[in-house]
Amino acid sequence: MLLVDSGLYIGAAAHLNDHQALSEANVTHILSVDSLDPGQLLPDDVRFERKWIYALDEATCDLLSYMDECVLFIQQAVDGGGAAFVHCQAGRSRSATIVTAYLMQKYQLSFSEAYQRLRTIKQDVQVNSGFEEQLCLYEALQWKVDTSSSLYKQYRLTKVTEKYPELRHVPRELFAVDPAHSSSTEVSYRCRKCRRTLFRDSSILSHPVGKGATAFSYRKSINFSDDVQCTSYFIEPVQWMEQALLGVMDGQLLCPKCNSKVGSFSWCGDQCSCGRWVTPAFQLHRNRVDEIRPVNIKK
Ligand SMILES: [Zn+2]
Ligand SMILES: [Zn+2]
Repeated sequence: MLLVDSGLYIGAAAHLNDHQALSEANVTHILSVDSLDPGQLLPDDVRFERKWIYALDEATCDLLSYMDECVLFIQQAVDGGGAAFVHCQAGRSRSATIVTAYLMQKYQLSFSEAYQRLRTIKQDVQVNSGFEEQLCLYEALQWKVDTSSSLYKQYRLTKVTEKYPELRHVPRELFAVDPAHSSSTEVSYRCRKCRRTLFRDSSILSHPVGKGATAFSYRKSINFSDDVQCTSYFIEPVQWMEQALLGVMDGQLLCPKCNSKVGSFSWCGDQCSCGRWVTPAFQLHRNRVDEIRPVNIKK
């Protein structure tokens, strides 16, 4: 068990057996980031505030979605004058990820700054590559997981794609509400042919424009740089797509009203016309949809 920051310890599950050390460190909160509930290791006569996040030390495991609540849990221990002990099985990857997130948020640090700080205290920490990506995303999200941001939506889609290769259990909350069945003041996009509303502005998952010429290496000689542009909107899946998406890896997206082809999808990802790879990819062609700006009606 090592002191990382005021009121914050990191260690392995085995440290829970050292009841004396827990008591001397004034540990009041125990945060377990592990696949096993370590409850029985704890002393019977002391009451701890506890939190258990079920997590495997695998790159596909999602910790980002729990970072805010874990950081808050540690904060509560510190604010209450106690201390938090964050552990996983070995105290090297899962717990280190959460502790790094805490340091990032508390001191507004980048991932590398916070991770470096932790590593000077505990040399053997080694967060896995998936957790490292999630911490970089946590930094990009400014240390707060905004689930409506396009960065987070894209991340969730990628995680689901990794986790459900058979695509039989795509969580329902992943699909945006069908804009044809609800009203909104947002910019929306309609089928060019039949004018059925297909998606809203907030469903667009923007990506940094790729360097077209270098991405398509065989076109290297063509001067491509001036007019690189995306000919599709890459969006989150919308409810009307659900039947088309399940059980298959890729296919066409047809307008649910007039059946004309409006785009395509691939769970393995696809390359945008700008050269950027997007995984998974749900794209609607710009020349098949019209942008509709809401009219402001003055009362
Ligand atoms: Zn693009
Ligand atoms: Zn249509």
